[in-house]
Amino acid sequence: MTAVACRAPAKVNLRLAVGARREDGFHALDTVMVAVDLCDRVEASAVPAGGEVTLAVAGSGAEGAVPVDERNLAVQAARGVLALAGARERGLALRLVKEIPVEAGLGGGSSDAAAAAWAACRALGVAPDGSALSRLLASLGSDCPFFLDAAETGCARCTGRGEVVAPTAAPRVVFALIVPAARCSTAAVYAALRAEDRTAGDVPAAEALVGMTAGELRAHLANDLEPAALRSSAELARWRALLDAADCEHFRLSGSGSAFFGVFDAEDEAEEARSRVEGRAREAGLGLRLSRTVRATGRGVLPAETI
Ligand code: ATP
Repeated sequence: MTAVACRAPAKVNLRLAVGARREDGFHALDTVMVAVDLCDRVEASAVPAGGEVTLAVAGSGAEGAVPVDERNLAVQAARGVLALAGARERGLALRLVKEIPVEAGLGGGSSDAAAAAWAACRALGVAPDGSALSRLLASLGSDCPFFLDAAETGCARCTGRGEVVAPTAAPRVVFALIVPAARCSTAAVYAALRAEDRTAGDVPAAEALVGMTAGELRAHLANDLEPAALRSSAELARWRALLDAADCEHFRLSGSGSAFFGVFDAEDEAEEARSRVEGRAREAGLGLRLSRTVRATGRGVLPAETI
């Protein structure tokens, strides 16, 4: 049995402006997302079992929090591809190796869905219309289409509810990624959002942002969801204070959290900032899930080798 393997990168939001609540209940979003080289791995094999999708999950990011049934977005994406392909006699066996922390605002589940759709198409030898795949992914989650639609650059301005993807080049900066032990439920963060948190309409062109040095970019990092996330988690509020005290005021929350990131021109500057933050977190007794220096991948879902 030949498995098709795909790397599913995490994302960070350089800017995230939340607009008014739409009639469908979603808030309008205007955000710039960048795929970074912290990746899950998704493998798909075509099997004779008619219409069935199975999933095995492994990896350090799984921690028992990742669903292994049809609630997993990778399973839903694979099912959707089977339906699009009309492949009734065949099924898919998926394997997911989780490295991206869950409920961190890093888009892990969304990226897994895009990677599973990509790998499922290749395992089945089908090539559905790109817009049908984008629609399928948008039906699974607002962040899902980004990873496939921006596959060539790994960076895009995303509007609508996040599913309207306009790819741009990726920034060259280095990211210091800090993922607290505290987890954020996206629903809880949106529930804590207040009208005064919303700054929609104030996003500079994505092209301008990605050409900036780290120093220039820092002034433009923004996330309307950060105040709501800090209100909804006392532990996250302690992290904010810790970052500010560790000379990392410019660090911003990614998505609905709990991951924070800072931008740097050089790797050693990012490492230095991370070790400062790690030291203070130890002193303060604040738990850390992950601390890592990452770069833009320059691609969305990354085709891995056929194994
Ligand atoms: P979002 O902001 O879209 O909620 P996130 O990046 O903060 O996403 P994810 O890691 O995508 O967080 O997980 C959110 C929830 O989605 C998890 O708690 C889990 O129950 C569910 N989920 C479904 N599929 C997956 C998957 N493949 N990997 C991780 N979580 C998944």
